[in-house]
Amino acid sequence: MTTTAPAGSWESLVPKLSDEVLDAVNVMGFTEMTPVQAGAIPLFMKNKDVVVEAVTGSGKTLSFLIPILEKIHRRSRKLAPAEIGAIVISPTRELATQITKVLSEFEPFFPNIKHQLMIGGETSLEEDIETFSQTFPDILIGTPGRLEDILSQKRSGVNVKELEVLVLDEADRLLDMGFAVSLNKIMSLLPKQRRTGLFSATMTDGLSELVRAGLRNPVRVVVKVEDLVGGGGQRTPASLHIGYILCSTSQKLLLLTHLLRQEAANKKTIVYFATCASVDYFYKLLSRLTQLSGFAIHSLHGKMETKKRSLTFKSFTNIPAGSPGILLCTDVASRGLDIPDVDFVVQVDPPQDPKAFTHRCGRAGRAGREGKAIVFLVKGKEETYIDFLKVRKVPIHKWGWSGGPEIIEDVQDDDDEDMTAEEAEVALTAKIIKEEGEDDSENAEFLRGVQKIVMTDRDLHDKGTMAYVSFIRSYSKHEASFIFRSRDLDLGALARGYGLLRLPKMPELKNEKSGGGIEGFVPAEIDMDKYKYQDKQKEAVRVKKLAEHKAKQAEKEKQAALNGDSKKRKPINKASAWSEKQEAKERKLERQLKKQRKRDYLKRKANGEIPEGDDAKDGEGEDDNSDDEDGDEDESGSKDNNKDDREDEDDWEELQNEERLAKKVKKGKMSSRDFDKQVGNMFADL
Ligand code: ADP
Ligand code: MG
Repeated sequence: MTTTAPAGSWESLVPKLSDEVLDAVNVMGFTEMTPVQAGAIPLFMKNKDVVVEAVTGSGKTLSFLIPILEKIHRRSRKLAPAEIGAIVISPTRELATQITKVLSEFEPFFPNIKHQLMIGGETSLEEDIETFSQTFPDILIGTPGRLEDILSQKRSGVNVKELEVLVLDEADRLLDMGFAVSLNKIMSLLPKQRRTGLFSATMTDGLSELVRAGLRNPVRVVVKVEDLVGGGGQRTPASLHIGYILCSTSQKLLLLTHLLRQEAANKKTIVYFATCASVDYFYKLLSRLTQLSGFAIHSLHGKMETKKRSLTFKSFTNIPAGSPGILLCTDVASRGLDIPDVDFVVQVDPPQDPKAFTHRCGRAGRAGREGKAIVFLVKGKEETYIDFLKVRKVPIHKWGWSGGPEIIEDVQDDDDEDMTAEEAEVALTAKIIKEEGEDDSENAEFLRGVQKIVMTDRDLHDKGTMAYVSFIRSYSKHEASFIFRSRDLDLGALARGYGLLRLPKMPELKNEKSGGGIEGFVPAEIDMDKYKYQDKQKEAVRVKKLAEHKAKQAEKEKQAALNGDSKKRKPINKASAWSEKQEAKERKLERQLKKQRKRDYLKRKANGEIPEGDDAKDGEGEDDNSDDEDGDEDESGSKDNNKDDREDEDDWEELQNEERLAKKVKKGKMSSRDFDKQVGNMFADL
C-alpha cells in the first residue's frame, strides 16, 4: 500500500463530478482516487476553504485542479474574456510549469477553459500581458513575483472580479522563500468571497498564521501515512527506505562515486547539494570523473537560466524508468516537482531546513515504487541528526550495503577472488566507511585524481572555490544549528574533499595559522600564472590581463624606484603579481560575503526573526574587526588609498540604503524578492 492507495472510485464522489472530468481521469489511467483526493475534492467543491496537508506524491495536484475546473465549468454565466476564474500560486517556475502540464491533460475535455503560465524568466511581463490579451485565459498559474506584477498593474487588463478560487501549492515553501508580502498583496487584490486552498506536505507556524489571516473557517484535510499503511505516524511512504552513512568530511565525494556506481546503474537518481555553486562545481567535476563516465549527469539549481532549467528538467524527466540518469540539484529547484520514476536519492549535504529532508527523500518511492534515500553525515559531528529525525518520525536506519537496513560489520578482504564486480564495489564502499581516519589511503589517492582534473581547467578551480565558500556560508544557516555547528566544520578537510588547489581568503579562515594553509590542507604546487582556462576565450582574456598587469607592475616599480618611494609600498615581486591579483579578487569576495551577512541580518530583522534592539549580534561586528578592507573592485590590484576611502564611503551609503529598504520590507511595503533584487543579493536563492 502506498500514498496513492485507492480510496474509492471517482464516480462515487458527492457532489458528482462532471462527465468531462471522469473521462479525463479515465484517460489518465487513474481508476481510483487517492485518499487526499477523496478527502479534499468534495470539500473544495462544496465551497469550503481547505488546508490540505499530505505527503509528497499523494496526488494533491488533482485535488485542486479538479475543483477549479468543475467550478468554472458549472458557472451559469460564462467568464467574460478578461475575467479569470482561478489562480494557482507555486513557489518555483518548474512546479508551476508542471501544474500547467497536468492541467493541459484536461484540455481535450474542456476545450473552452484556457490557462496561462506566468512565471517570468522565459517571457517578459510585456509578453505575458500580450499573451493574456490574445488568449484570454480563465486560469492563471504562476510564481508569486510575476503574478503580483500582473495583478497589480491595471494595464495588464486582468479582471479578477469573478475569481472564485485561489490555490497556494507547496504553501509552506512559499512562506519559507519569503513570499509572504507578495502573497498578501495578491490576496488583497482578490475578491473576499473567493475560496482559498492551501496545499502542503507540512504544516508550519507561518502557515497557521496565513490560515488565520486569509481563510474563512477552513476545513483541514490531513492525510498521514498511518492512514495509508497503518501505524507509525510517519510522513514518508512505506515503499521508501531511508538510510544514513557516517563518513569524514573529506570522504563525501569518493563515497558518492562508489554509491552511484553501486546503486544507480539502472536507476534514476537525484543528488542534493547545499548550494547552487556546489551543484555547478560538482556537475562539472563528476562529469569528468572516469568512474562515472557511463552516467548521464544533469544539473538543476535556482540560479540557472530558466531555459536551461526547463530543458534539463525535461530531459531528466524523459529518461525512462529503470535507465540510469543522475540529477544534481538544490532544494529550491526541486521542491514539489513530480519527477517520475526516481528510485534513488542521495543527500550529500543535509538540508538547512529540516522539513526539506522528507521532501528530498520523497522524490523516490513515489506512487508506490520502491525507493531508496541516503544522507551523508559527518562522523563525530552530525550524528545527533539521526535522533533528531527519529523524533520527527522519519524512519531512518544505518545504511547497509545490500541496500537494506542491515549493516555489514565485517568487510571482506580485497583478495577475495570470487567476488563479482558489484560485490567488490559493495565491499569497497563499506571499507571506506570503516576507514574514517585521515590516513585513508584510497581517499587520498582519489582526491589526488580529483586535483589533477581540477588542474586541467582553471574554471574548475574558480567554481570549486565558490562552492567551498558558499557551503561554509550555508552551513551557518542550518536551522538545526545545535547539530550543524559552524565552528565544528573541518575547513581543511572540506577543502581537501573539494579537490581545491589552494584556499580562498575568507573571514572564516582568518584565525587559522595562515600562510596558505590550515590544518589538514596543503596547497598544491602549481604556477598560478600558467594555470589555464580550457575555454579559449576565457583563457585569451586571462592571458591578456595577466600581461597588462605585469607591464603595469613593472612600470610602477620603475616609477617607485625613480621617486625613491619605498615607504608606501613594498617592491613587487614579479612572480607574485598574479597571486596578488588573485588575492584582490578574493578580498572582493570576502567583502561581498560580509555585506551579504549584513543584508541577511537586516532581512531577518525586517522579517521579525530578530527582536528589535538585539543589535549586539549585528553583522556589523564582523566589519569592525576587519582591518584589510581594501578597495579591490580594481582588478589590476593597485592599492590607492583615496580610492579605498571612497569605496568605503560607497559601502556605507549602500548599507544605509539597504537598511532603508529593509525597513520597507518590515513594514510590508516591499517584498523580500524585491529587496534581493535591489541589493543584488548574490546568494538570494542558494
Ligand atoms: P503531490 O502534489 O501530493 O506531491 P502529485 O499531485 O504531484 O502529488 O501526484 C504524484 C503522482 O501521483 C503523479 O505522478 C500523479 O500522476 C499520480 N497520481 C495522481 N492521482 C492519482 C490517482 N488517483 N491514481 C494514481 N496515481 C495518481
Ligand atoms: Mg504537489
